[in-house]
Amino acid sequence: MIERIVVVGASLAGLRAVEALRIGGYEGEIVVVGVEPHRPYDRPPLSKRLLSGEWEPDRIVLRKQDDMASLDVEWRLGVAATGLDTDRRSIALSDGSAIGFDGAILATGASPRMLPDQGRHDHVVVLRTLDDSLDLRRRVVNGGRRVVVIGAGFIGLEVASTARLLGNDVVVLEAAPAPLGHALGNEMGAAIAAVHADHGVEVRCNVAVEGLATGAVLVDGGWHEHADVVVVGIGVTPATDWLNGSGLRIRDGLVCRSDLNVGVPLVYAAGDIVRWHNPLFDEEMRIEHWTNASEQGALAAANLLAEGAEQPTTPYAPVPFFWSEQYDRRIQFLGRASAGDDVRIVAGSPDDRQFAALYGRAGRLRGVLGMNMPRHVMPFRNHLLAGIGFGEALALAAES
Ligand SMILES: Cc1cc2nc3c(=O)[nH]c(=O)nc-3n(C[C@H](O)[C@H](O)[C@H](O)COP(=O)(O)OP(=O)(O)OC[C@H]3O[C@@H](n4cnc5c(N)ncnc54)[C@H](O)[C@@H]3O)c2cc1C
Repeated sequence: MIERIVVVGASLAGLRAVEALRIGGYEGEIVVVGVEPHRPYDRPPLSKRLLSGEWEPDRIVLRKQDDMASLDVEWRLGVAATGLDTDRRSIALSDGSAIGFDGAILATGASPRMLPDQGRHDHVVVLRTLDDSLDLRRRVVNGGRRVVVIGAGFIGLEVASTARLLGNDVVVLEAAPAPLGHALGNEMGAAIAAVHADHGVEVRCNVAVEGLATGAVLVDGGWHEHADVVVVGIGVTPATDWLNGSGLRIRDGLVCRSDLNVGVPLVYAAGDIVRWHNPLFDEEMRIEHWTNASEQGALAAANLLAEGAEQPTTPYAPVPFFWSEQYDRRIQFLGRASAGDDVRIVAGSPDDRQFAALYGRAGRLRGVLGMNMPRHVMPFRNHLLAGIGFGEALALAAES
């Protein structure tokens, strides 16, 4: 009998899990543990409308206070989980207490990677939390600052775009030959860099950052890049430290079964922390995007309840999806890109900053990218689910 479920991580995946537990008819106790002091809020605006000052924090709550009450949850906020004992079925907390559980959902997300010595420099920041975003906003909102973004991933590029639109002088430094190379391939990464160039933001690739100094970034070749503000956007690491010693399998994420179970009865995981085998793509994945966290949270909860009721669980076999907003461009990607994919433009043109491209590998359709082309992206979801051939996908794109 499941009487208490503990959800660790009070963000998107954790909240979606709680909602799905209640929708699934679970009436027992739910305790949510979260190290941030805030109730669940939405992260995508942190690099966009909240950072620009267009929105205030009350716009980004994931669920209104009244709706929250209907979930009947005990919130333990401002407290970190520090350990998991799978034999005793207990979670240790940073305030010295421990909480027992019948079922658990682990959704602690990811934390930004830092540069060595970063903490010693006041002008160097990262962006992951609401507090980070408000801090960065204070620094850039009035424009006129020299902002150096280290790392041309999605968050770095979105910050560059917002900071530029606020009237700052912005440069992006990237170690790889193109921005977003591993997410979209070099050619499409270069197409996105071109949008930044249109707005006077240089995305400088093949640049190694060697260190930080007061008011500057030290770049290879002994050259100093002046900076009033440095934003380090060099990726994240899954927040699994607290699980060390738990016996769970950690390998750049928490390794889960395809149904998101962590290898312990009635314990599931969801969101940026999860590494699992996606049967649809026959590939092990860990995904750091919104839709994945939302869907996994709901499925982890449903599977926990199914296991408790001795019903079969469901594998998580999605077509991954993400979006990004930079300047007035909305970038969407469905599927999975890999190095060496065959990438074909099927509508519009990168020169017009409006296009759609298909990604194929080994004769199969693997993904679709759109820049301001939503009607060319979404219809391919069903084709990706059906696993159609690349030739067939190109023919379908030509017809539409
Ligand atoms: C600035 C920004 C912009 C983004 N924009 C987009 C976008 O445009 N499109 C898109 O698809 N995705 C975007 N994302 C990604 C998306 O927001 C994440 O994939 C999503 O938030 C992951 O949800 P999660 O619940 O798994 O993890 P998180 O949102 O990281 O939440 C995990 C929570 O667990 C807490 N926690 C960590 N360790 C512990 C512990 N030991 N004990 C208790 N609590 C703990 C953390 O503090 C955090 O509150 C963006 C992310 C950021 C940061």
